[in-house]
Amino acid sequence: MLMQCGHEKDKGSSTTHCSECAHVGELTAIRDRDYYTAYLAGDYLTTFVGGTLLHVVSRRTGKTRYTPSGGRYQLTYLTAVDPFGRTWSGQGLGEGMYVRLRRKVR
Ligand SMILES: [Zn+2]
Repeated sequence: MLMQCGHEKDKGSSTTHCSECAHVGELTAIRDRDYYTAYLAGDYLTTFVGGTLLHVVSRRTGKTRYTPSGGRYQLTYLTAVDPFGRTWSGQGLGEGMYVRLRRKVR
């Protein structure tokens, strides 16, 4: 069965939301921005629909920090490349979490 956009609807999916088109929308969005937020998933940063958006080329974990209430956290710092070949630097709270990205100006 085809959806309005012309893509095949996922089997078993009851939603009319097209993940393929949403992903294309995200690609267009990142092309036009200098700041972006994505999820860290292993060697990749993904969109909210799970499509691969950027490839992580390097990452390191910062030293342990403490919140005023005594909580502990470590930031993950990474460098990633988007589908247009541009480099982004970002930081987040680790695997499966949001990463705030800023495009590097060459
Ligand atoms: Zn579609």
